[in-house]
Amino acid sequence: MLFSGIAWSGTGYEVTVVGDDGRQTEASLRFEPGRTDEMISYLRSSTEPLVTVIESTNGILDGRMMAAGLDVYRADPGLLPERPLFGSVSATDLARIAQQDLSALARLVRTRGTQTGRESDLAAGMVASTAQVTALSATGRWLEHGERDRPQIAITFDDGPLPPYTGQILDILERYGVPATFFCVGMNASAHTDELVRMREQGHGIGNHTWSHPFLPELSQPQLVEQIERAGEAIAKASGTAPPTLFRPPYGSRTPEVVGWLTECVPKVALWDVEPDDWSMPGTEIIVRDVLDQARQGSIILLHDGGGDRSQTVAALPPIIEGLLARDYRFVTLDELTAAPV
Ligand code: ZN
Repeated sequence: MLFSGIAWSGTGYEVTVVGDDGRQTEASLRFEPGRTDEMISYLRSSTEPLVTVIESTNGILDGRMMAAGLDVYRADPGLLPERPLFGSVSATDLARIAQQDLSALARLVRTRGTQTGRESDLAAGMVASTAQVTALSATGRWLEHGERDRPQIAITFDDGPLPPYTGQILDILERYGVPATFFCVGMNASAHTDELVRMREQGHGIGNHTWSHPFLPELSQPQLVEQIERAGEAIAKASGTAPPTLFRPPYGSRTPEVVGWLTECVPKVALWDVEPDDWSMPGTEIIVRDVLDQARQGSIILLHDGGGDRSQTVAALPPIIEGLLARDYRFVTLDELTAAPV
């Protein structure tokens, strides 16, 4: 059995593979953020059974790796050395932890995603933050939907940009003349600048979705700030705009502490109220049906252009747009959805 650890940093990923004896089988390899397909091909080319280990701060690769047939595990902080201010623990540490005791790690399931097994932690953090979120919502700095008395809807796409899906989605939006808002991951924005330029040129909104898609309750305040600032800089550089003022927490994850930190470093937090779980690939028809069933005036629809195989999302988009246009909804960016009525 081989154990591969994948580390992330501000410049991309590093892969280290160790064998049953804990020794590296070959020199570690580095992959720039735009070369993740090559990294996945490299891991798939192993002639021996191989498992892959990521940290919970690396939330945009596992969906693609599982779709490619790789066996992916998550190592949580209790098992790991201290993480740097920006970046994961080393690939060697991740590989060796798996080699020493694979049973201590969480094996990821494609339909449950990066936080497989921690759904109750996620839910508990949300419940504990209810009072703070209610107070912030009243000030307009936290939103899960827009005004319910206007026939407006915002479509949002998270976790990209990721070729070819982001480009296909931009093509569809252009064809219908519909604006959307993209919550980009800094790692991806730094690699796919053409998509960011297109988003700006087509008049779409662009939001910040962190650098590496971490589970926020696991970060220190300085690590959270670094994730947001680095992503904001990468998005601004790629798109030629100012850093985004809208932020969306990965998984919607939060605790009272995290909500407090967010109020200090982002102007506005945007969640959603329509969630067809397209990331879990339930089938195009189900994505369309769920969106059309759940959408109402002021809704914010959560879809994904990154993080995995998004062909179902791309196929679902035209019927979603046509179905909502038939109900006389007007599509707006999130900024427009939250603007005061004129
Ligand atoms: Zn996300």
